[in-house]
Amino acid sequence: MFTAMILFEGGSVFFKTNIPMQNNIPKPNSKSLTDNAHKKLPNIYFIVFDGYTSFKSLRDFWNYDNVGIKQFLTSKGFMVADNCVTPYSETEKCIGAYLNMNLIKKIQKSQVYNTYSLLNNIKRNRTTNLLSSYGYQIVNLSIFDLLNKPRYYTFFEVQDIFGNSALSIVNKVIRKYSGISNYATYENLMISQILLKGDELPCEQPFFIYAHFMLPHPAYDFNRYGLRQYSHDTISLEKMEYLEQILFANRMIRIFVNRILTKDKTKPIIVIQGDHGFRNLSDTTAKAQNTEAHSLLNAIYLSNYSKTYYDHKTLENPLNNFRGIFKTIFNLDL
Ligand SMILES: [Zn+2]
Repeated sequence: MFTAMILFEGGSVFFKTNIPMQNNIPKPNSKSLTDNAHKKLPNIYFIVFDGYTSFKSLRDFWNYDNVGIKQFLTSKGFMVADNCVTPYSETEKCIGAYLNMNLIKKIQKSQVYNTYSLLNNIKRNRTTNLLSSYGYQIVNLSIFDLLNKPRYYTFFEVQDIFGNSALSIVNKVIRKYSGISNYATYENLMISQILLKGDELPCEQPFFIYAHFMLPHPAYDFNRYGLRQYSHDTISLEKMEYLEQILFANRMIRIFVNRILTKDKTKPIIVIQGDHGFRNLSDTTAKAQNTEAHSLLNAIYLSNYSKTYYDHKTLENPLNNFRGIFKTIFNLDL
């Protein structure tokens, strides 16, 4: 899977806004946070659709105006970026940068060392560290370990990058005989169920939930209406199948947002974003391919908290997402 992801290694950076240098994380004053104060903090939903490109890229490269979901999100009070741009196009670099609110440090040495460092960078990220210190419970429905919360996706092993681990072989066999041949379809459906039913989420407030859907990223098991009747055995790079999964992701977004806004009484914060773009355009120039690969969906909902941190430009830089949330909710300058 990683080899499929790393298509634009070292691609140029289209970055527009200033990124403050990493500074010391202010420690919350635990004495000032009483039990009542904890209960008043908002639940935070970080919902990632892997490979969901920007509205601008969908217009430019698919000739598709994704305006329906943009209007839906805006009508619900989301701030939505039209042309959000990321410095990276690999999942583990993107998520590491977003959760640490900074560019990742240069990594040298071997590929094994790189991968370990990148995964560790996510595991020990600033966002979940800080939220934990404020009393947040961490709900991990992602492909990465977070602090002491193991990843939800069982297939996602470091060894998978370098060969077949025993666990990955077992997973493949289970999937083959369960009728779910593609690697993330089962998890996509299960995570949807958890978000919708809510009965596996913590009763105690507040919580931070990171839900990572491997979608619209291949494999293309879904059309715009839902699960297809057949599955691809290999990763397809069909541009229009990707668009079908964008449309399916839009259906999921509508359902999740309606559900959260109806059920969650904590004045929740919701971040819905891609990590990078489609990355596999074959009908355009290398420069355009690179531009698309570094573009993503980005939408933030702050309930009735102040929106002053975010403006048009701030929203185009996903490294600002959690920086803005910490400023808005905790008055932290990170
Ligand atoms: Zn990704």
